[in-house]
Amino acid sequence: MSFLSLGLSEPLLKAVAEQQYTQPYPIQQEAIPTILKGHDVLGIAKTGSGKTAGFVLPILELFQRKKIAGNRQVKALVLVPTRELAVQVAEVFQTFGANLPRKVKTLAVFGGVSINPQMIALQGVEIVVATPGRLLDLVASNALHLWEVDILVLDEADKMLDLGFAEEMNQIFEMLPKSRQNVLFSATLGDAIQGIRENLLRNPIKIEI
Ligand code: AMP
Repeated sequence: MSFLSLGLSEPLLKAVAEQQYTQPYPIQQEAIPTILKGHDVLGIAKTGSGKTAGFVLPILELFQRKKIAGNRQVKALVLVPTRELAVQVAEVFQTFGANLPRKVKTLAVFGGVSINPQMIALQGVEIVVATPGRLLDLVASNALHLWEVDILVLDEADKMLDLGFAEEMNQIFEMLPKSRQNVLFSATLGDAIQGIRENLLRNPIKIEI
């Protein structure tokens, strides 16, 4: 199995090769074509499985194909449990996106630091990687709005729930447009995750590695 058969275009394939990714990991073999086709995804995968590139690459590809029509508003939202993961995931978007014809600005936003620089940096950002509390603060400050989000990713959803973000997550879901694509990654599949799955995902393709 090579990256060639997953539906990624030349510029993305070049970016993948530059990172010396020679073969897609199993989660990527499943997630990349599924997300490109527009399906909702329920992915059961741990850190280290390669799940990040499993959603970063198809999202960047959708922007290249104009399936996500960018207009310098937030079109892709990735919710993560921690500041560290927010920074890490945003870096993966930036690395793979660095030399693409269609540039897409990505920003990590998280709590525990001053909000003002994040408000300024959000100008023109189309992919936001956020922890839930800070995202709500930024929306309340009118630094961004969520009504144009085309694709939502919940990364490490079980950890987000463990950290007590359920209420914030629900508030965020309420602000999103009804018509959108959803991707949920979790290391475990407990009752709370099942609840989110029922509430959020439409006919999801389940990927379990
Ligand atoms: P993740 O589970 O997304 O945090 O990824 C774990 C690590 O695997 C990261 O350091 C990635 O850069 C690396 N990685 C992901 N996919 C591949 C791949 N197809 N080939 C080589 N390394 C990869």
